[in-house]
Amino acid sequence: MEGEPVEPDVLVIGAGAIGTSTAYHLAKAGHRVQVVEKESGPALHQSGRNSGVIHAGYNLKPGSIKARYCVEGSRRLREYCKRRGVAVEQGGILVVAQDETEIATLKELARRAAANGVAARNVDGGDIPNLEPEARGVQALHAPEAASFDARSYVHALASDALAAGAEFLYDRKATAIDEGRAATSKGPISAKVVVNCAGLHADRLAKRLAPDVRIIPFRGYYAELVPARTGLVRSHIYAAPDLRFPFLGVHLSRRVDGRVIVGPGAMLAFGREAYGFFEANPRDLVATLGWPGFLRLSLTPPFRRLIRSEVRKSLSLRAIGKEAQALVPGLQAKDLVPSYAGNRAQLVSRNGELVDDIVVRSTRRAIHVLNAVSPGLTCSLPFGEHLAAAAGDLLEGGPPRAP
Ligand SMILES: Cc1cc2nc3c(=O)[nH]c(=O)nc-3n(C[C@H](O)[C@H](O)[C@H](O)COP(=O)(O)OP(=O)(O)OC[C@H]3O[C@@H](n4cnc5c(N)ncnc54)[C@H](O)[C@@H]3O)c2cc1C
Repeated sequence: MEGEPVEPDVLVIGAGAIGTSTAYHLAKAGHRVQVVEKESGPALHQSGRNSGVIHAGYNLKPGSIKARYCVEGSRRLREYCKRRGVAVEQGGILVVAQDETEIATLKELARRAAANGVAARNVDGGDIPNLEPEARGVQALHAPEAASFDARSYVHALASDALAAGAEFLYDRKATAIDEGRAATSKGPISAKVVVNCAGLHADRLAKRLAPDVRIIPFRGYYAELVPARTGLVRSHIYAAPDLRFPFLGVHLSRRVDGRVIVGPGAMLAFGREAYGFFEANPRDLVATLGWPGFLRLSLTPPFRRLIRSEVRKSLSLRAIGKEAQALVPGLQAKDLVPSYAGNRAQLVSRNGELVDDIVVRSTRRAIHVLNAVSPGLTCSLPFGEHLAAAAGDLLEGGPPRAP
């Protein structure tokens, strides 16, 4: 067991991108900060199991918190990766429409891009192959600022910068409860002036009485990938036009910085918050999901039922994923795909069945709880962590925390 630490000004729970960024900004501002992480290192859940895309922000609702942080975060994250030697490649995203309905979606995306100040241009169907030689569609939207990056290395770099600035990381230590200025952990309690809960998939449980109206429902994003001989089908990122009723981006083919091309992710209900295999389950988590009135309400809506039916098919069959991807890249065949990895999203669902779309932060006098650091949380992480550090600073000075 680590020696019992001296009381920090701020205790951060969780060493994903958001907690690590918060710790980094707190340490840089001269605060004593400790991070408690239940795993043996940073970025082992959402921040290490994702698409690895620095999103440009063309798809986010103008005026939302995440639109603001994404646009600023995208620029800062690309700069940070270059400065710190984290692999990053700016190849842009091409969102491809297959019919009239999807052209309407592209129009809405173009409107959002303009309102968010994000570069995006329309591409005629015939010009699509100039950007992605194997992609086909009737029209497309190109967002040149989007990039691939090594998300796990990014969080490691941020953790080492936080360490260098004086932050302390306590790994293999799980927080079990947060009280005003105190956290119970698996290795004894830690007192702090302020606690910041960045526990990702478990944040609602630690927030307890501050989150009676919402619950985290885990959605499993599973990927297939192209066999090495076929990765040439994709230059950068090819996305389907998303169904804007859901906070999921739809199928996409993405070239990672290591040269692999992933296809996915799906958005299937996960049977446990950290259950990454289709047949894995955590009974406590499953009961929490199925017993949540908001989940029941959501399940009764026809679009959600359709989504789940299609996701079950895709998570059981590479052929089904291949069919969706083939609509974008006709030369792709099911035999070009092999199963790859999965990551679970911490998606907040309200009691009345709404999939909460934006970042949610709730605070007391001595604690800040991050309840919905949804995608593109990695892209948002530098400005969002900086904000959380400043809000924790407000609490340290006895004032109310600033709004995100
Ligand atoms: C499939 C998928 C694809 C995505 N793709 C992208 C993308 O391309 N671009 C993008 O910008 N965003 C993407 N996202 C979103 C992004 O990954 C998340 O928004 C972001 O990683 C959230 O970071 P976090 O720090 O809140 O959570 P996490 O990374 O999950 O970190 C939370 C940490 O808290 C720890 N923890 C939990 N409970 C406790 C406890 N009780 N005590 C101590 N420690 C605890 C966990 O072990 C974990 O390390 C994707 C997400 C998924 C799932």
